[in-house]
Amino acid sequence: MTAQIIDGKAVSIQCLERIAQEVAKRKENHQRVPGLAVILIGDNPASQVYVRNKKNACEKVGFYSLSIEKPASFTEDELLTLIDELNENPEIDGILVQLPLPDHIDGQKVIERIRPDKDVDGFHPYNIGRLAVKMPLMRPCTPKGVMTMLDAYGIDIKGKNVTIIGQSNIVGRPQALEMLMKRATVTICHTATRDLAEEVSRADIVVAAVGRPACIQGAWIKPGAVVIDVGINRLENGCLCGDVDFETAKERASYITPVPGGVGPMTIASLLENTLEAAQLHDKTSN
Ligand code: NAP
Repeated sequence: MTAQIIDGKAVSIQCLERIAQEVAKRKENHQRVPGLAVILIGDNPASQVYVRNKKNACEKVGFYSLSIEKPASFTEDELLTLIDELNENPEIDGILVQLPLPDHIDGQKVIERIRPDKDVDGFHPYNIGRLAVKMPLMRPCTPKGVMTMLDAYGIDIKGKNVTIIGQSNIVGRPQALEMLMKRATVTICHTATRDLAEEVSRADIVVAAVGRPACIQGAWIKPGAVVIDVGINRLENGCLCGDVDFETAKERASYITPVPGGVGPMTIASLLENTLEAAQLHDKTSN
């Protein structure tokens, strides 16, 4: 069997088109366009690329985008004050602070300063908690993007064995909560997992979010399983690859995501969806 490739880029374009239509309708109705503020501290080149991509996507769908770049010397207090201002700014529906932050800034403190209804990354404990009790508000972007992609390909989740490798706050854990909401039977693996190959081989759906190239071997994949590779790793030759050994896994899986062109574009699409949803929420509460 050779797997069908899940084209995250194509699904993300459809999402962006839907969002652009909603923005056009808002304009027709003389409503405010959704506004996203993206804060970048320091000069990490990868972060600069991510921020540029987010700004470009905002422009494509017609959002108001505010890009705020500060030097690495920007203090934690200054950043918290900036977030307070954006929390009160009625033109801004979503606030995103690009991670990682310089060492002198406490990332968790920053995440918790963003008002939950403007936390379009979905990282605030309030939003993670709402997901845990099956009442999501702002859903973390990458796991949400995975669910949108599975839905776009008509892949059923209810009752399936799902194995997630990685338990980070931004991917693995919220991914498990998303899968539970769809009534999957969920296993989460991490560095203390005793037999990773065994856990992967029982899965109907595998989600890899580790950050190690070819950590998941093709031979572990159950024939016909769906493989979602969240990992983004840069090899010494400059190429990007995921956490799954793609060439061997695609010979056993029914569906598989490539890296790049799989989960990555869906993360940005989810960010824009969350910003639109935040604007709709603010319509009701006048921000
Ligand atoms: P992270 O915070 O470093 O978490 C990695 C997780 O993998 C941890 O839970 C760790 O376990 C687990 N792990 C590491 N080595 C393992 C092993 N040998 N066996 C089993 N588990 C292992 O990373 P993250 O932020 O979740 O990101 C994961 C990957 O996804 C990275 O490559 C990142 O670049 C990528 N990513 C992609 C997107 C996208 O849009 N496509 C978005 C976010 C992240 P412990 O908890 O035990 O340490």
